[in-house]
Parts: sequence; structure tokens; C-alpha cells
Amino acid sequence: MSIYDQVEIEDMLFDEDLQIYTYPCPCGDKFQITLMDLLDGSDVAVCPSCSLMIQVIYDPEDLEKVSDDASIKPVAISA
Ligand SMILES: [Zn+2]
Repeated sequence: MSIYDQVEIEDMLFDEDLQIYTYPCPCGDKFQITLMDLLDGSDVAVCPSCSLMIQVIYDPEDLEKVSDDASIKPVAISA
């Protein structure tokens, strides 16, 4: 398995509807990895067109924040 590049998750684009992170691939398509994959501990995004792979650099704690934001929004307590 060869990794083309390493990319910080902040540099990737998050699609809230699809719950998927994407990053431009040199072939013109996009590397893709789902939020679920990341939460499962996977960190390799694959381009469906050319099979190149990138390793996603992320902090699991940040990821939990994102998944919380995307699903359940806690009710803000205002006094
Ligand atoms: Zn590609």
C-alpha cells in the first residue's frame, strides 16, 4: 500500500450532507473518506478514479466534535 501524500484534515473539505471528507486528487477527481471511516480509526482516503491514496492527519478529539456538531446539537443553556 503506497501513500501518495499526507493531508491535515483541516485542509480537506467536509460535505455535511454526505458526511464525507474530500481532497483534490491530481487526476482531477477527489480523494474521499467518510466520517464513519475516520471514527472507526481508518485514516486513508482513496480516489475512486485512479486508486491513489492519502493519509489523513487528524486529532480524534476534533473528530468527535465534528460528529457531534453534525448530528445532535446540544441545546444551549441561557440564563
Ligand atoms: Zn485520482
